[in-house]
Amino acid sequence: MRIHLDLDLCLGYGNCVIEAPEYFELDDDSGKAIVLIENPAETDRSVVEAAVRSCPAVALRLED
Ligand code: SF4
Repeated sequence: MRIHLDLDLCLGYGNCVIEAPEYFELDDDSGKAIVLIENPAETDRSVVEAAVRSCPAVALRLED
């Protein structure tokens, strides 16, 4: 699976960082999310799915 982040949609709410800090952080300059690990381990699927669902801007998508 692969995390897809649409930076045009990201508004920097940071929910993804709270849900899955090992996968996301906020860029100090742009204030937008950075994906730290694009290809999560299958064992982390539920954590990553929670982060994707938590995004109010629908900027995150999980591709299989
Ligand atoms: S939750 Fe969505 S809008 Fe907020 S920083 Fe993460 S990707 Fe961006």
